[in-house]
Amino acid sequence: MKVTFIQPAIGKKAGQKYIGTWKMEPLTYATLAGLTPPDVELALMDDRIELIDYEADTDVVAISIETYTALRAYDIADRFRARGVTVLMGGYHATLAPNEARQHADAVLTGNGEKTWPRALADVKAGRLQKLYNGQPGYVAVQPNRSIFEGKRYLPITLAEVGRGCGHHCEFCAISSYYGRAYYPRPVVDIVQDLSGSRHRFHFIVDDNVVARKAHARAWMRAVAPLGIRWAGQGTLTMARDPELLKLMFDSGCRLILIGLESLNDSNLDQMGKSWERALGERDELIQRVHDAGLGIYATFVFGFDGDDERSFDSTVAFAAKHKFYTAAFNHLLPYPGTKTYERLRAQGRLLREHWWLDRSYTYGDVAFRPAVMSPERLSELCRQARHEFSRLGLVGRRGWAALRRAGPRLWWLYWAMNLSLGEELDRKMMVPLAGNLDELPK
Ligand code: SF4
Repeated sequence: MKVTFIQPAIGKKAGQKYIGTWKMEPLTYATLAGLTPPDVELALMDDRIELIDYEADTDVVAISIETYTALRAYDIADRFRARGVTVLMGGYHATLAPNEARQHADAVLTGNGEKTWPRALADVKAGRLQKLYNGQPGYVAVQPNRSIFEGKRYLPITLAEVGRGCGHHCEFCAISSYYGRAYYPRPVVDIVQDLSGSRHRFHFIVDDNVVARKAHARAWMRAVAPLGIRWAGQGTLTMARDPELLKLMFDSGCRLILIGLESLNDSNLDQMGKSWERALGERDELIQRVHDAGLGIYATFVFGFDGDDERSFDSTVAFAAKHKFYTAAFNHLLPYPGTKTYERLRAQGRLLREHWWLDRSYTYGDVAFRPAVMSPERLSELCRQARHEFSRLGLVGRRGWAALRRAGPRLWWLYWAMNLSLGEELDRKMMVPLAGNLDELPK
């Protein structure tokens, strides 16, 4: 039996290249490959870097979908199914919207795939495939099989995970809609084995919160420190209350940490279910502690909660400039299906497009709901302007020395590359049509 994994793309503008920073190794398929019996032949097609071969010789196509890639995934799936190829679908979007995914798949696998994937493969072989496989959240020891990436040109960064779940439950977060407040640690021995066999020195830990369970974080960070790797990851500002943890992060190779600060407005934090961040203490001091530990911060902010008005943007950019963040993102709120934000906006009649992810006229940067005090277009434009303002050459230069001190010389080139291209890259992403222009030759 032959299985072909397909990584769907978001979309691209006609005649243009796919966005470079969206071309990371898709860890999900390496994990599924690690769970696949050896008698099954595997292949990977990545829509982001190559044309999909719709005539490929395969018995099964397996697609993991996110909300942004759902429309493209359905297009691809429909073409393979029209030829009689069995299509299996999973991923976060399929988990949060299984009935929608079922219209384009022979079977939908919700949740984590460790138990459902081997079962579904066995059922395909035996000719008794079910329509739905419900995976429970959890962690089953498995090593990703990254040999499926051979010959593909990805960014030179290894993606890995150290656990699943976050421990918090923010209103807009699709991840926590699945995991709730639960957290599932990956065994430390598996993390060490995985990272010590990695091809690259730089790693991105894909977890939503690497400090969700402090004891686990301390254990794996101590264990990987001797490997001499460098890593970046995502975490909450709670880390700043624990000096020992910050030191361990640095000693284990962390140089850059993405922190979702989201908003400087307390009523917004309350609305998004993130008031716990206010209870941590003085925000400026906590940020300083992270910086003092030698960690650069990639700060992310989200606009469009009801307390935001036009002044919110200037004050947030000034705050980001004051702290000389390594880099920052100024995004508008997106109502992901299955989240409490989505349900709230729908109940308030504020969704402009109920199924925006299936709408071929929707483009990257469009706001899919009606903000409280400004137009959707204005919200999108102010986010774009904030990013441009933060990537002004003068400001990037002023932040540059801080970045060198915090993240070290090896990541300094990345600092310049990321920050100087920030505004330009955003302009290239804006107006990217969902599922658009992907069957033309990649550049
Ligand atoms: S802290 Fe981040 S990952 Fe965790 S629930 Fe909130 S938004 Fe999601």
